[in-house]
Amino acid sequence: LSTRASTILSKLDIDASAEVHGVYDGQWGGSGEIVVSRCPTTGEELARVRTASKEELREALARTREAYTIFRNVPAPKRGELVRQVREALSAKRDDLGALVTLEMGKILTEGVGEVQEFVDICDYAVGLSRMMNGSFIASERPEHSILHVPNPLGVVAVLSAFNFPVAVYGWNLALSMAAGNATIWKPSPTTPLCSIAITKIISRVLEANGIPGAVASLVTGDKDVGAPLVNDPGVELVSFTGSERVGRIVGQAVMSRFGKTILELGGNNASIVMPDADLSLAVPAVGFGAIGTAGQRCTSTRRLYLHRSVAGEFLERLEKLYKSIKPGDPLESKTLLGPLHTHAACGIYSQAVDHLKSIGSELLVGGKAYDSAPFKGGNFVEPTISVHKSVNKSDSVWTTEVFAPILNVGIFDELDQAIEWNNAVPQGLSSSLWTRDLRNVGKWIGPSGSDTGIVNVNVGTSGAEIGAPFGGNKSTGWGRESGGDAWKQYVRWSACTINFSNEAPLAQGVNFSA
Ligand code: NAD
Repeated sequence: LSTRASTILSKLDIDASAEVHGVYDGQWGGSGEIVVSRCPTTGEELARVRTASKEELREALARTREAYTIFRNVPAPKRGELVRQVREALSAKRDDLGALVTLEMGKILTEGVGEVQEFVDICDYAVGLSRMMNGSFIASERPEHSILHVPNPLGVVAVLSAFNFPVAVYGWNLALSMAAGNATIWKPSPTTPLCSIAITKIISRVLEANGIPGAVASLVTGDKDVGAPLVNDPGVELVSFTGSERVGRIVGQAVMSRFGKTILELGGNNASIVMPDADLSLAVPAVGFGAIGTAGQRCTSTRRLYLHRSVAGEFLERLEKLYKSIKPGDPLESKTLLGPLHTHAACGIYSQAVDHLKSIGSELLVGGKAYDSAPFKGGNFVEPTISVHKSVNKSDSVWTTEVFAPILNVGIFDELDQAIEWNNAVPQGLSSSLWTRDLRNVGKWIGPSGSDTGIVNVNVGTSGAEIGAPFGGNKSTGWGRESGGDAWKQYVRWSACTINFSNEAPLAQGVNFSA
């Protein structure tokens, strides 16, 4: 192992010299298949992780359920206190964990650290929530009756997560799920097992030190062999799935067929629209960050750019200059703005997409190739690409499909209505952004004839959400909401409780059933 990798791993108590245990349910184990964690920057093998065998998965599920039956009786503010301790423990290791995210996933260091900060932030939020997960009191039509709407812990929550946010997505779920009194079992991406192991080690120590079963936050690494049985298990009340539309469709149908609950956070295909009155000094760098940031591997990355004809020329000139100023580098170096794609396979998907763009005659303003002079030989570095289209054929896969790579497709419009129509003419509905100073455009954009996405921004790019807002997308993005807003309400079971404290037993609607 290189010194850079072993230094990061040892700070997080991961010994990669032997096979690493990838299962935790109160104790560490792992005797299933091996997954290899590989550094996207150098191609180096970081560790071999032993995933959950069938038997271990069954056992972990049983222990997680048992942990739930204990944890649900811990008062909510006390659960909040545990979340607070988790927050402190993560915060103390924030920079080391951030470096691990960068090492294993490939995003640049500031984003790796930012992801851990997001986990810390959502813990703060959940600590507060633990004293505010309120039900309600409803006026009854019957005398001396009360109706309460009561939240109780839900059960076992399975979190299946994607490679591109190997820490934050779990954080959003775990913090709310813990505050709500559930036990959570995490199945991370098979290509980022070390992030999940490092996080689980930190959390397990907090739980164990407080005499709480570690299986309140269980971990089962592996790929679909572990994910599919978890999704199909009737003992899992809620499946929170983050990943592609393809897999989300399988997961959603499987959970629905057993009438379980889901939160689906699937692919995005996000557009920015630039109006003639936009402040380009804000819009150009924001579009640049949205499209190039995380090497185009955020669900909220900007993939489509619709420019008003009157500003298109100047905008593209400035954007091209910005693109040309960005060089690939070691994502662990603080100056680097462009890291690698996560896998070698993703480079192939990028090249295929570029070939398709060429075949339909779009103009490649910049980019289009894998870097031949990348900083590390074995790394998956590709050029961020801008592709300008003479016309927008809404049904071409260029516009309708999410390609998880830094490719920005540009179309030119004359009227805002046309741009909004294009914005909405895709299966996905995650994020969108309008650049304007005109209040009339803003009103239209956020209103009934406006953008149909779950995140609708004005003078703010498509990516980079805060934890306080509900996060998620509409349509084939899955309609899920996580993090802030009312998202916590999905992690509890709700009961409407009618209590009669009178000496009569009247029926609702005045129904008379007396003989
Ligand atoms: P993916 O769909 O390939 O994998 C996601 C997870 O599903 C992994 O943990 C994988 O092991 C598991 N899985 C695969 N097959 C399964 C099956 N049959 N049953 C159960 N689990 C199974 O996604 P990915 O490539 O890791 O991530 C990229 C995708 O995630 C992109 O589409 C991106 O937009 C999306 N994403 C969405 C959000 C959001 O909030 N909307 C956030 C991050 C990523």
